Amino acid sequence: MVLAVFRLEHRPIRDKRISTHLALTARAFGASEFYYSGHHDSHLEESISQVISDWGGSFHYSFISNPRSFFRSWRSNRGFLIHLTMYGIEISDRLSILQDLSQTRDFLIIVGGSKVPAYVFDIADYNIAIGHQPHSEVAALAVFLDLLSSSSARLRHFPNARFEIIPSERGKRTRVVSEHSR
Ligand code: SAM
Repeated sequence: MVLAVFRLEHRPIRDKRISTHLALTARAFGASEFYYSGHHDSHLEESISQVISDWGGSFHYSFISNPRSFFRSWRSNRGFLIHLTMYGIEISDRLSILQDLSQTRDFLIIVGGSKVPAYVFDIADYNIAIGHQPHSEVAALAVFLDLLSSSSARLRHFPNARFEIIPSERGKRTRVVSEHSR
C-alpha cells in the first residue's frame, strides 16, 4: 500500500530546507507521495525533482491549497491519517497495529510546522508520538517510517537513477548508471 507524507503550513523563506528534507526523508524511507500546504513553492519542487532525477525511483509531489478537505477525502477514499505529534500515543504502543493496517490501506502521515491547527488532532485516526520530547518533524518522520517498515524501506532499490553509491569505508564513490537527461 502507499505511504504518503503531508507537510502542513510550508513557508518558503523559513521552511525551504526543512520541507525539502522532509520530502527527501519521505522518499528515502519508503513513502512515494509528498504533499504540502501553506505557500506554493516552485524552488522546493525543483529541489525534489532534481533528487528524483539523479537518484531514481517514483515519487509524486503536490501543493494542496485546502488541507482539511484533502484529509477528508483521504479518509473516505484511501485510508488512514496518521498525525505525528509529541502529544500523541508513543509509537511503540501502536506499532504492530499500524504495521497491520498499512498492509491493507494507504497512510497519509501528517507533520506540522510552527503551529498545528487543532482540527488536525481530531481528524487524525492516530496521533502518534516519537517519544514525548519536542524535536523535529524530519526526525519524527524518519523514525516513524523506519519503524513501520522494520528498517527495510531504506534499503530498497530505486530504479532509473543516474547515480548509485558504491559503499566505501572512506571517501565518496559513485557510479553513473544511466545517462538519461535531466
Ligand atoms: N509542539 C509541537 C508538537 O506538537 O509536536 C512541536 C513542533 S515541531 C517544531 C514540528 C513538528 O515536528 C510537529 O508538528 C510534529 O509533527 C513533529 N514532532 C516534533 N517532536 C515530535 C515528537 N516527539 N513526536 C512526534 N512528532 C514530533
